[in-house]
Amino acid sequence: MDTRKIEGILKKRARSSKEDCRAALKKARAKTGLDLDEAAILINLKGGPLTKELLDTALWVKNEIYGERIVFFAPLYVSDFCVNDCGYCNFHRSNTALSRRRLSLDEVEGQVRLLIEMGHKRLLVESGEDPENNTIDYIAKVIDRIYSVRAGKGNIRRVNVNIAATTVENYRKLKKAGIGTYQLFQETYHRPTYGKLHDGPKSDYDRQITAYERAFSAGIDDLGLGVLFGLYDWRFEVMSLIAHSQYLDSMHKVGPHTISVPRFRPAPSVTYRAGYPVSDGDFLKLVALLRLAVPYAGMIISTRESPAIRKKAFLSGISQASASSAASVGGYKDKRRARAQFAICDERGLDSVIKSVLDDRILPSFCTACYRTGRTGEAFMELSKPGHIHNLCRPNGILTFAEYLEDFASSDTYKKGYEVLNFHLARIDGEPLRARTRQRLARIKKGARDLYF
Ligand code: SAM
Ligand code: SF4
Repeated sequence: MDTRKIEGILKKRARSSKEDCRAALKKARAKTGLDLDEAAILINLKGGPLTKELLDTALWVKNEIYGERIVFFAPLYVSDFCVNDCGYCNFHRSNTALSRRRLSLDEVEGQVRLLIEMGHKRLLVESGEDPENNTIDYIAKVIDRIYSVRAGKGNIRRVNVNIAATTVENYRKLKKAGIGTYQLFQETYHRPTYGKLHDGPKSDYDRQITAYERAFSAGIDDLGLGVLFGLYDWRFEVMSLIAHSQYLDSMHKVGPHTISVPRFRPAPSVTYRAGYPVSDGDFLKLVALLRLAVPYAGMIISTRESPAIRKKAFLSGISQASASSAASVGGYKDKRRARAQFAICDERGLDSVIKSVLDDRILPSFCTACYRTGRTGEAFMELSKPGHIHNLCRPNGILTFAEYLEDFASSDTYKKGYEVLNFHLARIDGEPLRARTRQRLARIKKGARDLYF
């Protein structure tokens, strides 16, 4: 990461004219992204009508690429054993008050059943770093068990993973186990801050930032970037995320599949306070900026954010969200807050999250089609970069949402859900695809499941 270059651009663009901002927003509408200079112009925007234009442009770009859908998933924490001492995390090694836990495969199955019964189809497996307790073979077995669970008409169809940086050999094992996206957060791209907040194997900044190269060379081509906002100046972090995305894209012709934007949250046992807290206004701005700068990437928001901020972020660039989450090992059964990695802010159940997005005519989706049809890495980018992927996201979102409505929805959500579903059905490009989607919907009503394009 060329820190000096980024700081130089931010300084040069500290005061940008309205004309420069408008030109950058116009360029963003081409859906080809922004360079660092253009991003810095918009980063330094201060309130007013131009900020509204920025958020509106981000929604427009997101809808052009992915359509008006939000894909939902839930995290599954399998082990809080950890050899690192990250200053912001409740699982940090020096928290001796936490009696550490690693789920047995039967316990994994128990948690997965609860998640399937809520209506989930996509999970994100998370764990601390511990080479003895959380081996890759254990994670591979966890993935295998998750895919094997059938509960009622439901099952988990995509397992993404967020675990510590590791070796090519281990990434190969993860690939073989059938992972979807491999997510890893750099936490902060600012090397001195990174050094101060980490202790243990994760304190190696270079091990963290080069992990994507190792994962890619092991055949994992859907990679997720992220920063823990609050550790350092958000402007620097956003520029670094954009630079990192451009680097991956130029090296492999495959940019990040997703970008996550977690903000630091209070956590039991954690005395650290965010050195650079990000205001709600700046948070929404940074979501919008990343959407414009890396338009093809899925952008993920978690339940670290409040329902009110999530609602706004869904309308300014976010395309994926966790819902009804527990951030502790075994947390879908054991609700003790002291065991959580951090405090969650949106504690609503999946049905009420879904009901609220329907108010904005957003299409809830549980789609897993790309991963299962081999549309990963470059094949995915070929569709997402020119903005063609919505032709698949929309019908697949509709089909998976219909499954949710038939199998899990409350009666209120059912009625409202079909109104929104029919609205999006009418917007599918071209009568042949619309007709095929209608036929599949009729089959779902009769009991068929897991239909996708
Ligand atoms: N242990 C692995 C690692 O550190 O890469 C896996 C990820 S950890 C389970 C998921 C993420 O939670 C971390 O990467 C970090 O960004 C985030 N996190 C940790 N403590 C947090 C806090 N207090 N507030 C918000 N997010 C936090
Ligand atoms: Fe361990 Fe990850 Fe928490 Fe750091 S963030 S203490 S590596 S679980």
